[in-house]
Amino acid sequence: MAVSIRIGIIGAGMAGLTLARGLSDRADVSIFEKSHGVGGRMATRWIDGVSYDHGAQYLTIRDARFHDALEAARAEGLVEPWSGQVASLGEDGLIERTAKGTIRYVGNPSMNALPKFLSGGIDIHPHAQVGAISGEPGRWFVSVRDSTEGPFDWVVAAAPAPQSARLLPARFAHHDKLGSVEMNACFTLMTTLRHFARFPFAAAHVDDPVINWISLNNTKPGRPSTPCLVANSNSVWADVNIEKPLDSIKQQMLEALRLYVQIDPDEAQAATVHRWRYANVQQAAGEPYLIDRDSQLAACGDWCIAGRVEAAFLSGAGLGDALAAIIEAAE
Ligand SMILES: Cc1cc2nc3c(=O)[nH]c(=O)nc-3n(C[C@H](O)[C@H](O)[C@H](O)COP(=O)(O)OP(=O)(O)OC[C@H]3O[C@@H](n4cnc5c(N)ncnc54)[C@H](O)[C@@H]3O)c2cc1C
Repeated sequence: MAVSIRIGIIGAGMAGLTLARGLSDRADVSIFEKSHGVGGRMATRWIDGVSYDHGAQYLTIRDARFHDALEAARAEGLVEPWSGQVASLGEDGLIERTAKGTIRYVGNPSMNALPKFLSGGIDIHPHAQVGAISGEPGRWFVSVRDSTEGPFDWVVAAAPAPQSARLLPARFAHHDKLGSVEMNACFTLMTTLRHFARFPFAAAHVDDPVINWISLNNTKPGRPSTPCLVANSNSVWADVNIEKPLDSIKQQMLEALRLYVQIDPDEAQAATVHRWRYANVQQAAGEPYLIDRDSQLAACGDWCIAGRVEAAFLSGAGLGDALAAIIEAAE
């Protein structure tokens, strides 16, 4: 009987999950994920019975392959259109309502509903932060705390580019490409919002030095009805302030937000801020995935193409095709 190829994947975000699904019927696939759950930046936080999508706000579908891959999740109602009005705001108030045409989709009842669905049947190790990859081509091991997992024929890093660069051994042929990727930080503020009527939109792009996005998370399908706000910081401001204490970030974001929405003192007090060190892609690798056939190491993620959920999918799917062809040729 043929021995199955073993593939270790680091990261259970959209890219890692898509890759795993693409290979699961031809290889023995395991995902190592440092968090307790799947989804990576497609993330949802529950605070006092209210849910906040504090990572990806929505996804768009432009590519036919992504469209088809979402069919099953859409049929089960796990991905739904978000039809709320999105505007653009300047400091002096409304600039314009953005043109209709873009269909925005969200996970239902939360953004991580889709990655949870995609993770079905896949061997995932949660709370498994990979500290190092060691070994040699065809016999790779990953270190998770004080244990070593493997051997794997291939190891794929599906973490943000700077984290993947730190993990992949020096012999990986594409370190220059990985190093050319630039990712920005982001802070996300979450709070309930009693005076939401002052903000008659579902969401807005904001032209502001501190804030660049406001959304009423409760306007998305399937969320609890409590009015609540998710605000993302301007990425340039986030990069400059990345090491500042979260309390000071919270105060500055609240001050900036008060130009656009009314936040009561108790809501401000209870507001929570999340720090994303690697949130958006400023400069992509410009290749759909990175594969080194000699070392049997590879990398994928949104940062290969663009900072979007769909790009992460396409990167994982493309690498899945390439590895499937290699496995087939070896059989
Ligand atoms: C605030 C914010 C808003 C966004 N808004 C949108 C939007 O509206 N629309 C849109 O399309 N996109 C948006 N994005 C981008 C979108 O979330 C990403 O493009 C996409 O989710 C990236 O998927 P990925 O699989 O490439 O990476 P990730 O989702 O980052 O997955 C990587 C995974 O690797 C894990 N990991 C990292 N290091 C290790 C390690 N050493 N060991 C084990 N596991 C590890 C991480 O925990 C993570 O789960 C947003 C992102 C952020 C942060």
